[in-house]
Amino acid sequence: MRIFIAAIGTETNTFSPIPTGRASFEETLLRHGDGGTTSSAFAGPLAEWREMSSPDDTIVESIAAFAMPGGPTSQSVWQELRDTLLRDLEAHGPFDLVLLHLHGAMIATGCDDCEGELMEAVKRVTGPNAVVGVELDLHAHLTDRMVANADAIIMYKEYPHTDIRERARELYSISRHARETGQSLCMSMVDCRQLGVWRTSDPLVAELVKWMKDEERQRPNLLSLSFCHGFPWADVPEVGAKALAVAAGSERSVAENAAKDLADRILALRETYAPTFIAAKDALVATARTDNLTIVADVADNPGAGGPGDSTYLLADLLASDIADVVVGMIWDPVAVRLCVEAGEGERIALRIGGKLGPLSGTPLDIRGRIVRIVHDVKTSFGGGNWEAGTLVWLDLGRIQLVINSVRTQTLNPDVFEQVGMDLNAYRAFFIKSAQHFVGGFSRITDRFIYAVCPGVAAPAFESLSLPRAGRPLWPNSTDQ
Ligand SMILES: [Zn+2]
Repeated sequence: MRIFIAAIGTETNTFSPIPTGRASFEETLLRHGDGGTTSSAFAGPLAEWREMSSPDDTIVESIAAFAMPGGPTSQSVWQELRDTLLRDLEAHGPFDLVLLHLHGAMIATGCDDCEGELMEAVKRVTGPNAVVGVELDLHAHLTDRMVANADAIIMYKEYPHTDIRERARELYSISRHARETGQSLCMSMVDCRQLGVWRTSDPLVAELVKWMKDEERQRPNLLSLSFCHGFPWADVPEVGAKALAVAAGSERSVAENAAKDLADRILALRETYAPTFIAAKDALVATARTDNLTIVADVADNPGAGGPGDSTYLLADLLASDIADVVVGMIWDPVAVRLCVEAGEGERIALRIGGKLGPLSGTPLDIRGRIVRIVHDVKTSFGGGNWEAGTLVWLDLGRIQLVINSVRTQTLNPDVFEQVGMDLNAYRAFFIKSAQHFVGGFSRITDRFIYAVCPGVAAPAFESLSLPRAGRPLWPNSTDQ
């Protein structure tokens, strides 16, 4: 069997002040032909698909590209990625199987639906004979164009995304079986007309994930169910949560009924489930009151959702308080990192930190401290792979320890603090920038997580998000449905 594999992704926040260009891909993942051999979490499916193939198969791997979420991708960069993939597909074809790992919420300055455009072009090249299977992040805008141009789409089920590789294996099996047996596949999607965040670490959402897996096992001919959570911070026409089913055979009713049943359950969760968030000042009070190790997540400035990662609200509040023995990090400030590298470990330094990258980043803070440690080329582990964090600098400010870094990424795992030599047991709280992916990594040191809301481009203010292009009422942005 001839198999084509590739991965392209980023998650576009149309409110983010960070442009996404070539350098954003280069510093996270940009490989051609060998992405599956890297430790990048986004390339994990490529490694799985290679591993699952038999020695008789021919595998052609094209591009593997991922940029940390930010604003829209420059049109020329998008076109370069897209055309590289399509050129490879044409040059090395025909293929029996095309397997793509995409994000599903990638927007370019000249294209609202990069994945839909790509999938349509892929189908045009392969024709009807190849089976096209696509794995997507659950934070996608699942569009009609995507569903019309793939044979099977499978999305992650878990948030945090702990099942990227598991879903990749599932997609491989379903797609390969269909190609080998000539079995037809059909998909059905239901628009839930809803914005939200669903943490699968919360019991009610975990129950829904379990229900989906049970249905996949029990319903005749149902192959896959996906709960597309959507990515709310993007003003595009098909933003919002969706339900998707993939079924075997050409009888559409299996997929249609399953997608509708899933959508009903998603809508029913409105009555029983809401993710917890608390105001920043209450997070400080909660931290001061307990000696249990606490993780305070600044969700609105999460670089994993397009946040700049340089907002200073929580750090400013901490500096104004008398709270001691806490760590703040990572704050993305490559210029301050450079000044620290220039000064060297052990030196005292005065720095202006953060608050530079957008109107929601707060004000820059003037601090003085000692440079405890500088470590280059730090990677943080997540999702069965690694994410680049660049150079990290540990600054001792007295009561507060601050970690700044040079490659924008969320604080996914306490391993970043360990890599600069911190004793994790020596502190009462870590103030990090992430919305949910930190849960897996930090669970090994505590189960006390606080989701704090400050101003930011990924603030969970779904009632007031400005989405004039959404084109239809979306709960709770509009209750007019
Ligand atoms: Zn996601």
